[in-house]
Amino acid sequence: MSFNVEQRQSLDDIFKTYGYTDYKWIDPQKIIVSQWVRMKCMFGCGEYGHSGACPPNTPSVADCRQFFSEYSDAVILHFEGLMDKPENRYARTRKINAKLVKLERQIFLGGYERAFLLFMDSCCFCKDCTGNRETCNQPRMARPAPEAMAVDVYTTVRQFGFNINVRTDYDQKMDRYAFLMVA
Ligand code: SF4
Repeated sequence: MSFNVEQRQSLDDIFKTYGYTDYKWIDPQKIIVSQWVRMKCMFGCGEYGHSGACPPNTPSVADCRQFFSEYSDAVILHFEGLMDKPENRYARTRKINAKLVKLERQIFLGGYERAFLLFMDSCCFCKDCTGNRETCNQPRMARPAPEAMAVDVYTTVRQFGFNINVRTDYDQKMDRYAFLMVA
């Protein structure tokens, strides 16, 4: 850990102010980055090439691995919910991601210059995403999801006791995770 007990307490106070209680501090060196995750983006995901915060607009898998290696403290935030219709997912995600960006900014302003957020789902801020980082409508707000940074979210979060399963139907609970890289 790169900060003392008081600093950790003040960070926890910020999380509390935002209403976050379902989160855990983690060692970022335990974040698992895998090539198979990128392959799933490239083949099988409709957002590949259509989201300014998804591959191929994110770094290579090797660069993602390098990015995570530079941190000693991070937080995983858990979001769960039921989604009866696919279209409801985007409205909910937009709201949650907008709040998470504010949290990242507050941590940054608190003196943690490396603070960087990975959204709990794909960006979703715009109804029609430009699909390109250079032409993104909200370049200061958009962030990649962990999966877009080649994180094996399933194996990573299970190491810390979080629950996550492949959903086979919309009536099943959805567990999503945001990562906040702190220091
Ligand atoms: S802010 Fe809009 S244009 Fe930019 S990545 Fe997100 S959805 Fe796409």
